[in-house]
Amino acid sequence: MSVEQVNLLELDREGMAAFLEECDEAPYRGDQIFKWVHQQGVSDINLMTNLSKKLRENLLEKAVIKAPAIVSEKQSKDGTFKWLLKLDDGNCIETVYIPEDNRGTLCVSSQVGCALNCSFCSTGKQGFSRNLTVAEIIGQVWIATRQLSQEGTLHDRQVTNVVMMGMGEPLLNFDRVVTAMEIMLDDFAYGLSKRRVTLSTSGIIPEMLRLKEVSPVALAISLHAPNDELRNELVPINKKYPLKQLMAVCKDYFEDDPRRMPTYEYVMLDGVNDQVEHARQLVKLMRGVPGKINLIPFNPFPFAGYKRSKPEAIARFQQILQDAGLNTIVRKTRGDDIDAACGQLVGQVQDRTNRSAQNQLRVIKIQQASQVAEG
Ligand code: SAH
Ligand code: SF4
Repeated sequence: MSVEQVNLLELDREGMAAFLEECDEAPYRGDQIFKWVHQQGVSDINLMTNLSKKLRENLLEKAVIKAPAIVSEKQSKDGTFKWLLKLDDGNCIETVYIPEDNRGTLCVSSQVGCALNCSFCSTGKQGFSRNLTVAEIIGQVWIATRQLSQEGTLHDRQVTNVVMMGMGEPLLNFDRVVTAMEIMLDDFAYGLSKRRVTLSTSGIIPEMLRLKEVSPVALAISLHAPNDELRNELVPINKKYPLKQLMAVCKDYFEDDPRRMPTYEYVMLDGVNDQVEHARQLVKLMRGVPGKINLIPFNPFPFAGYKRSKPEAIARFQQILQDAGLNTIVRKTRGDDIDAACGQLVGQVQDRTNRSAQNQLRVIKIQQASQVAEG
C-alpha cells in the first residue's frame, strides 16, 4: 500500500462518500462500493462490476481493501472457531466465532493487549501494546463473514451477533470502536440490529456516558465483585471508578427504552467471589438496577493463580440471585479446547516493549543466570 492509498475498511459510509468526493467522483457511488466491500466481501476493486472502468481505475490508484492476515484457523469440538490474525506491525490478535442453534456470535477484539490488568484475565496479563484501527476491528467481522460463507468448509454459518468481548477494553479505543460498530449496524454493510451488537466494558464511566450519546448498541458491564474492596483487587480500574458511581450510571443507561437492560458479567472464581455472602451483597448492589446477570465460570490459563468455582458453588450462587428476583444465567463455556474461551485470548504480541515480552526476556535471563550459576 503506497503512502497515499486509503484502506476502504477504515471508512464508514460518510467517510466513503467524502473519500469519493476527494477523488473527484460522485459521492453516491460510495454506497455501492460499501456494499461490495462489506456485503460481497470483495477485496479486489476490479470485481466491482457495476462501477465504470474509469472509476475502478481511479480507485485502484488511490485505495486498497486490506484486512489483517489469517495466520491460523482452529475449530473446537463444539464448533467454535478461533482465528489468529496478524496485523501489519507483526502484532497478532484473536477473533472467536461461537455458533449456536439460532445465532452465530462473533467475539471481536479492540486492542492489542489491555492496560487494565484485571487479575483473572490473560489479555490483561500481557499488558497494553496499542489500539486497533477501524480496519483492524471491522476487518475481523469482514474476515469471519468471508470465511463462514465459504460453503462446505465452515458449514455456511452467519454472523448474527457481535460482542466486543475479545482482547482489550473497547471504551479506551472509543472513536475507532464506535465507527466500527456503526459499520456493523449499517444496512449497506452488515445490517445487525442494535440489540445484537454488545459492547462489554470494565466500567470506564466517562466513556460510558459518551457512548450513550452516540451509539445505540447493547451494553455489558464486567462486574465480577459485589464490593469495592474485592473489585479493587480483581478489576483495578474500580479504584478510579468505584461501584457506587458505576451502578448509578448503569441504573438509567437505557432510560428511554426501559425494556433494554445492560448485562452484568460475573466471573466465578473458586473461593474468591463465589460465596453465599458475595451473592447476598450482589443482590443488595443490584437493588433498583435493571439488568440480567451472566455468571461466567472462570477459564483457566497458565499461571492464572485462580481456579474455576465448583459447579455446586455456581448453582448455589445462581439460586440466591434468582430467589431475589434477579434474572441470572450461567454462561456455557465454549471453545476452551482451543483457548478461545473468555479471558483466554492472548494473540502473540510481538512488540518488544510490552510487559509480557519483557517478562519472557526476564525469565530467559533468569534461566541463563541460573545455568551460569550451576555451571
Ligand atoms: N475489556 C472488556 C471486554 C473484554 S473482556 C471487559 O472487561 O468487559 C470480556 C469478558 O471476559 C469480560 O467480562 C471479562 O471480565 C471476561 N473474562 C476475562 N478473563 C476471563 C477468564 N479468565 N475467565 C472468564 N471470563 C473472563
Ligand atoms: Fe482488560 Fe477486560 Fe481483560 Fe480487564 S477483563 S484486563 S478490562 S480485557
